[in-house]
Amino acid sequence: MSKASESVKVMVRVRPLNKKEKNRGSKEVVEVDSKFNQINLSKPDSPEISKDFAYDAVFGIDSTQQLVYNEGAFSLVESVLEGYNGTIFAYGQTGCGKTHTMVGDYGEEDSKGIIPKAFSHIFGYIDSREDDTKFLVRCSYLEIYNESILDLLGSDHTAKHDVKEDPDKGIYVQNLTNVIVKSVPEIEKIMNAGNKHRKVGQTAMNDQSSRSHSIFTIYIETSVEKDGDQKIRAGKLNLVDLAGSERQSKTNAKGDRLKEAQKINLSLSALGNVISALVDGKSKHIPYRDSKLTRLLQDSLGGNTKTVMIAAVSPADYNYDETLSTLRYASRAKMI
Ligand code: ADP
Ligand code: MG
Repeated sequence: MSKASESVKVMVRVRPLNKKEKNRGSKEVVEVDSKFNQINLSKPDSPEISKDFAYDAVFGIDSTQQLVYNEGAFSLVESVLEGYNGTIFAYGQTGCGKTHTMVGDYGEEDSKGIIPKAFSHIFGYIDSREDDTKFLVRCSYLEIYNESILDLLGSDHTAKHDVKEDPDKGIYVQNLTNVIVKSVPEIEKIMNAGNKHRKVGQTAMNDQSSRSHSIFTIYIETSVEKDGDQKIRAGKLNLVDLAGSERQSKTNAKGDRLKEAQKINLSLSALGNVISALVDGKSKHIPYRDSKLTRLLQDSLGGNTKTVMIAAVSPADYNYDETLSTLRYASRAKMI
């Protein structure tokens, strides 16, 4: 196994049947084997035809937000605190649990998803340090819609931003707002403000959220004084809620909608290609430049970084085709 394959982990989470699926009498076609980390998918109407897929971890319908955090995020966040870059993606068809996994329900501690749990983890760690290490935490929040980068924290949410590269700063987004945060309530406030911009977009553009990728990034700088020298380390945590992976071209295959669908397909397949090239370890060329998403995350995927992809699926027979395609995408990201 290549080194990269150890630093890229792919997990699958199955949500419970929802009301609509129950009302239409949907059967469950997805089985979770948490002992062997496998998912079994059986074909509706011919359950004897079934396929097994293996991952680094699988989460069944009863899996708690805490379990998903412990297995999917904890060690990655720890390594960001030590100065490495890391990225967590939620992938899958709209309605299958990406936002539930990344954000969850804010009010109750148990229902909080990865992002709010990461906030507590980071500030809990910083507050518990008793040495004289200094921490500087900043965050930014953007979305990629139609291959344009939009700042969710800026005053002008419609302005398009460019990706730049700098010998010192690495890859960065030009003129992107970033805010210094000193506590959990502060960072929560910033995130909520950004989410409101996403909501505005949704009503104006008819659920833009399922057609844009959002990236909440937390930058953590530590400085320690050693023998009169300042030693500085910087890590970056990218929390990514991807656009819905459903084949959107099928539903609205005209004009702007077609263009939009093509851009999503392009960026999700570019991401799949980058991750499988990294896992493969043999490719000299990693195609980061094929999409804004991969370009932007170039210094947070591969190399010394950690990546977790959590693919969210519905258990219902009705979603068989999309579930199969999600399970294949996720297993390709792992096994090549
Ligand atoms: P997505 O972001 O992928 O479009 P959501 O996260 O918004 O999907 O989930 C759709 C609905 O299903 C939400 O009401 C959410 O609360 C619920 N849901 C998703 N995953 C789970 C889960 N694992 N357990 C319970 N409810 C879930
Ligand atoms: Mg969502």
